[in-house]
Amino acid sequence: EAKAAGRNTLRFFDPAMQLMVAQRAELESDLRLGLKRGELMLYYQPVVDANRAVVGAEALLRWLHPGRGLVSPLEFVPLAEQTGLIIPVGVWVLQTACAQLAQWASDPLTAHLTVAVNVSARQFRQDEFVSQVQGALQQTGADPKLLKLELTESLLLTDTQDAIMKMAALRSLGVRFALDDFGTGYSSLSYLKMLPLQQLKIDQSFVRDVLTDHNDAAIARTVLALGRSLGFDVVAEGVETEGQRQFLLDQGCTLFQGYLFGRPVPVAEFRFN
Ligand code: C2E
Ligand code: MG
Ligand code: MG
Ligand code: MG
Repeated sequence: EAKAAGRNTLRFFDPAMQLMVAQRAELESDLRLGLKRGELMLYYQPVVDANRAVVGAEALLRWLHPGRGLVSPLEFVPLAEQTGLIIPVGVWVLQTACAQLAQWASDPLTAHLTVAVNVSARQFRQDEFVSQVQGALQQTGADPKLLKLELTESLLLTDTQDAIMKMAALRSLGVRFALDDFGTGYSSLSYLKMLPLQQLKIDQSFVRDVLTDHNDAAIARTVLALGRSLGFDVVAEGVETEGQRQFLLDQGCTLFQGYLFGRPVPVAEFRFN
């Protein structure tokens, strides 16, 4: 017992752990400042149809840290989620993406483009979420029908009734919803039909080996069939090769996203044709 306690005490003062805690705290205060200083940016990745025409873009968050360079959202979004910073960050993302949408709408060449925005669980669970989306649309004049919000399965499972109410409120404005990383969470088929969703995104982990792994191929095929029968569009994520595209196309996929068509880029580099 004493030994166990001793070990716990030791672990508490573990220098490696202390360093981690300190680094996290530093990253958090850096992010708080970074948001104020305008270090966050949105990159845009094209979504294309079966003819490779660009139909929209997914907005992907980047942080241009003065010392670390470009920081991936995989590094700071989870931290922002834990600390609550995702709330102001999420508002910034919504406003910036809607401003882009409004700007594209003002040019006939880009007026048809949709913009997809990723929403995190903590952001979605706030009571203010619906009014934040509404506010971003109103302030920018963006067309709600061209805005797509990407939610995840885990986010929808925690308080499904609340999720349905929020989604319905935004649906009545014309906002569309996609289920991101589909297949990686707890896929309960019964809630799929309860939710006002329009789109499923096949996770890139199934697309990666779709040509060589029978299970991944079966999952991709199943998600496409499911989308067809429930009336959802299906987007394949992480398409990197012609072979993957052809396979998915043969299975009836009509929307694609991945390095084959374009990487996420700053808006000035976004090619819409
Ligand atoms: P996600 O929403 O599933 O976004 C797709 C990720 O796959 C992006 O990573 C994108 O750059 C990457 N990707 C796209 N095509 C390919 C491909 O062909 N091959 C490979 N290997 N990867 C590809 P990214 O930009 O690093 O974003 C990672 C995750 O961070 C996103 O996954 C999303 O969950 C989260 N995220 C990004 N932006 C935001 C945001 O504004 N708010 C929130 N809450 N989360 C965000
Ligand atoms: Mg996404
Ligand atoms: Mg995804
Ligand atoms: Mg993902």
